[in-house]
Amino acid sequence: MIRSYCRGLSLVFALWLVTNGITVAAAAPTADWSEPLQLLGREIAPGTRSKFPFSPDRSFEASYFNIPVFVARGQTPGPTLCLAAGVHGDELNGVEVARRAFARVNPKELRGTLIVLPIINAEGFRSGNRYLPDRRDLNRAFPGSTGGSVARLIAHAIFTNVVSRCDALVDLHTASNQRTNLPQVRADLSDPAIRELAIHFGTGIVVGGSGPDGSLRGETAKAGIPAIIYEAGEPFRFQEDEIERGLHGVENVMAYLEMTEQVDREIPDNRVYQHSRWIRTTTGKGGFFFPTAEPGDIVRKGVSLGKIVDPLTDVSFEVISPIAGEIVGMAVPQPVLSGYALFHVAWHDPD
Ligand SMILES: [Zn+2]
Repeated sequence: MIRSYCRGLSLVFALWLVTNGITVAAAAPTADWSEPLQLLGREIAPGTRSKFPFSPDRSFEASYFNIPVFVARGQTPGPTLCLAAGVHGDELNGVEVARRAFARVNPKELRGTLIVLPIINAEGFRSGNRYLPDRRDLNRAFPGSTGGSVARLIAHAIFTNVVSRCDALVDLHTASNQRTNLPQVRADLSDPAIRELAIHFGTGIVVGGSGPDGSLRGETAKAGIPAIIYEAGEPFRFQEDEIERGLHGVENVMAYLEMTEQVDREIPDNRVYQHSRWIRTTTGKGGFFFPTAEPGDIVRKGVSLGKIVDPLTDVSFEVISPIAGEIVGMAVPQPVLSGYALFHVAWHDPD
């Protein structure tokens, strides 16, 4: 039912895209734009904006669906861009990117529709927790199902009611606990529409990869909707530079999709990396981690990135890079054990 709806719309929108020179292939604006948008039992008239809870149900179980939804319905037809944040409840930068992006949209001047889900894991957000209260990772539960864990129920509700109506999706994240990420976009570079979306976000760094099974970004792309992730900074705090970069990226994407005018838009030269891997603590050489390299450093193979000191023997081990590339993420100084991920290094194919 949903699939045939999307296919029908895709055909119309493909024609719209051809005439507008845009390469993102996705679903279409509805035929009669003068009618209010119907979403989650609400009506949003053209040229207006609205904030409401995902579900009005106030039962104990439904508290997990107390997810805010922000919708701006443009005055004129255009694509639907979805912004997702807070899939991991402790990742605050993306939540604020989503809030600012929506606050700055003027629906009277907007083409198409902006749907923002700023705090998908609302329970985790309130308790400062990456995961749901039952310790499941919501970002491994997509596209979800009508039975099973709360994670799968939330994922299914989000996917069928909102994501299936998006023409493109940007998912906003930070590094996980005790790590930090250089602002970057992650995208499946083998898909031309996704690659274009990533380049036009304009962060300056694009790291290839299709995302894990069950992730919102990965499963959205599998459903034929171009999807990218913006990853920036650390969890548990608001970081102004990372937030502003993300906001700029979202506005770049909206301009690229011709949802807004942005005449002075500048897309920086992106460093596009097809590959990345983690350098981990060598087995048996755990201890106190003191990095000397930092995010954004371009490193050569064989150089030292820092040291790990065994506090019982006072012996220290150098962390040697086995590859050349750019450090796009890393662990902060902390005690580490064997196998712990220390540096995320990305590199591109030889020219
Ligand atoms: Zn995350």
